[in-house]
Amino acid sequence: MATLRAPGLPVVEDGELISTHPATGAEAGRVPVASPEDVGRAVDRARAAATWWAGLGFAGRRTRLLRWRALLARRISELADLVHREGGKPVAEAVVEIVSAIEHVDWAARNAKRVLGPRRVRSRLILVEHSAHLAYQPYGVVGVIGPWNYPVLTPIGSIGYALAAGNAVVFKPSEYTPVVGQWLVDSFAEIVPEHPVLTAVHGLGDVGAALCRAGTDKIAFTGSTATATRVMAACAETLTPVVIEAGGKDAMIVDADADLDAAAEACVWGALTNAGQTCIGIERAYVVSEVHDEFLARVVDRARRLTVGDTDADLGPITMPGQLDVIRRHITDAIARGARPVLGGPDAVQPPYVRPTILVDVPDDAAAVREETFGPTLTVTRVADVEEALARVNAVRYGLGGSVFGRRRAMEIAARIRSGMVAVNSALTFVGMSTLPFGGVGASGFGRIHGADGLREFARSKAVTRRRGPSPLPAMTFDRTPAQVARIVKLAQKVYGR
Ligand code: NDP
Repeated sequence: MATLRAPGLPVVEDGELISTHPATGAEAGRVPVASPEDVGRAVDRARAAATWWAGLGFAGRRTRLLRWRALLARRISELADLVHREGGKPVAEAVVEIVSAIEHVDWAARNAKRVLGPRRVRSRLILVEHSAHLAYQPYGVVGVIGPWNYPVLTPIGSIGYALAAGNAVVFKPSEYTPVVGQWLVDSFAEIVPEHPVLTAVHGLGDVGAALCRAGTDKIAFTGSTATATRVMAACAETLTPVVIEAGGKDAMIVDADADLDAAAEACVWGALTNAGQTCIGIERAYVVSEVHDEFLARVVDRARRLTVGDTDADLGPITMPGQLDVIRRHITDAIARGARPVLGGPDAVQPPYVRPTILVDVPDDAAAVREETFGPTLTVTRVADVEEALARVNAVRYGLGGSVFGRRRAMEIAARIRSGMVAVNSALTFVGMSTLPFGGVGASGFGRIHGADGLREFARSKAVTRRRGPSPLPAMTFDRTPAQVARIVKLAQKVYGR
């Protein structure tokens, strides 16, 4: 029988990181812990591999990435089972996550050449004698630091795009999901056995910190806002560029002309999927007064029916034991400030599970409104109109995603939410749309993964001009004459002066 350990808490023993199921403590697997020297060596090996990988060109990489995508698709069930065994996520939710990740690998592989391939761009009148050429070159080695809550989709959102752009990747998975991380790396090595194009380094936060200082050419970080500031500080020492995908406090706005049943269904799923441990999870709903009571009743009715447990349940355990305290604190703090639980409450926290909790009358200064809860909780707030909803939605430091339910004004409301993404008449759907960029504003980070912007995030633009004839009006030379300067002034005034 497998040894049982403290549920969910990763343990380091004899140089190995042992990860456990958050509900049962059953060992999910073990991986070697990397020393700072190991991290440095991994980056050195990746640098050599990067040259080979970049040399394959778009076509060579596309073939291999599409083969990897096919392998992932063939093994969806195996990987979903592992995601469940390690992080506790219900298998059906893991399947949805993995399929979304596969779609991103597919799109990145198919579109890298179109988005990043070399091209001519137009010359302008001022330098008409030169042609202009643009290419996007890979950085070299990208360090990817990932979280545990979507251990397949979030790292692949960076890894897939970084690889398609021609980089090698050194991946530091979360200490809560290292086995899934190693599985991804091993599966890629089956398709690309020649060089360590994608490798993993394992350990606790210090291994991530070592990766930031190991000489990578870019760091793609997904995790909490607090860790993001440490990652940026470390990368600042060497001017290593970063893309930051950090926390969120996403909201749904429900307008008076919304389909209330669809809104309630999407809100319950958006708030409670993965037991609320979702960066783009709906943590707040702002509902215009005339439909508030009806919406709330439907949300409570749906959320009440969800099951919580380890297998075959809608909501699994809370993966990170420490998060249980945060969730409990947010609930009790809100109630102490006058909030009312209409479902769940402080007793809903029954480690390692939290039952759905819906709070109303939560004041704006409560942690449950201002800070990321990362649990199956939702605040529902009555607002006079959409203007009030927008003001309150936008009054937090985060700005990752969001959702709007309505008809006539829905697109206008979506544009005015301060965030990187919004789903209209659904929740969270933008994460699976590989043609769209993903990322936030404010404390939710900056830079983009997914889509064409996500490919460009992992490449440097290279601009080249090429002379194609003599200059009719020489400007960028000491050989120009005063008469030519006068003609340049005349021309500039004619072209720009009106
Ligand atoms: P953390 O910030 O705790 O950890 C993220 C990663 O950073 C882990 O691999 C962690 O390693 C590593 N790390 C820890 N300390 C350092 C350091 N000093 N330098 C470099 N790396 C370090 O986040 P969680 O894993 O708890 O993930 C949950 C958070 O991620 C939530 O805030 C969530 O909103 C956010 N998230 C954001 C997403 C987005 O796309 N915007 C998507 C998914 C999640 P270790 O685990 O070993 O400590």
